[in-house]
Amino acid sequence: MKYIFKSVLLILFLTISCNDDNIENDLNNGNYPIKQQVGYSANDILSSKIFTDIYIEVMYVDGFKPSAETVTNLKNFIESRTYKSNIVIEERVINIATKSIYSMDDVRSIEDANRSVFSFENQLTISALFLNGKSSSDTETTNILGTSYRNTSFVIFEETIQEGSNDIFEPSKVTLESTVILHEFCHLLGLVNLGTNMVTNHEDPEHGAHCSDEDCLMYYLIESGQMPPWMRNEQIPVLDTYCINDLRANGGK
Ligand SMILES: [Zn+2]
Ligand SMILES: [Zn+2]
Repeated sequence: MKYIFKSVLLILFLTISCNDDNIENDLNNGNYPIKQQVGYSANDILSSKIFTDIYIEVMYVDGFKPSAETVTNLKNFIESRTYKSNIVIEERVINIATKSIYSMDDVRSIEDANRSVFSFENQLTISALFLNGKSSSDTETTNILGTSYRNTSFVIFEETIQEGSNDIFEPSKVTLESTVILHEFCHLLGLVNLGTNMVTNHEDPEHGAHCSDEDCLMYYLIESGQMPPWMRNEQIPVLDTYCINDLRANGGK
């Protein structure tokens, strides 16, 4: 088993995209934009200035629902880093024409066809997709586990997480899943240097929007073959001081 995973990089991916959607379609019922680039809503998620509450709409393909423990970990993380007083995470199955490989255009279309809750009044909403199949960005040596792709949207390639966890030399599913979800959520919080300014420079020069500290949750990759100590010890990585300082300076805790 070791040899299989030694060559496979499990990567937390980020799509920085703008101009991919018609601006006229950018407004939903509550008039809050949902098709801006990742990091655009960082301050709105972190602070309670406009939105005191947050609602996360988890939409999953049957068989690829996140673990209850992972959902709790996300809720606790939001509680610890933002000033939202009310945090609701609801999960529902979605019926889509499943594929074995999804492009980011596919992902955006799935969100557009299924997302049903939008920001209004004092509640900000986030869309979280959990898909079967693989990312079209996967290569022979790289598997994408998750991608944040709009200001309030991220996707998790849950089947890839299931395949890369719960086996010998692999992290538990909850550890890997929680790590990926928290990492993607932190991109929505504007990390690193992606809508949330850096207090001190700590952006990885070779992997933009990521932290140069390899023990930080915002480090750019998880390499299963050379498992970092936190993975071996079944610990979900935490944000380092640099990242926390950035969040605090942009309205977070
Ligand atoms: Zn990332
Ligand atoms: Zn960091």
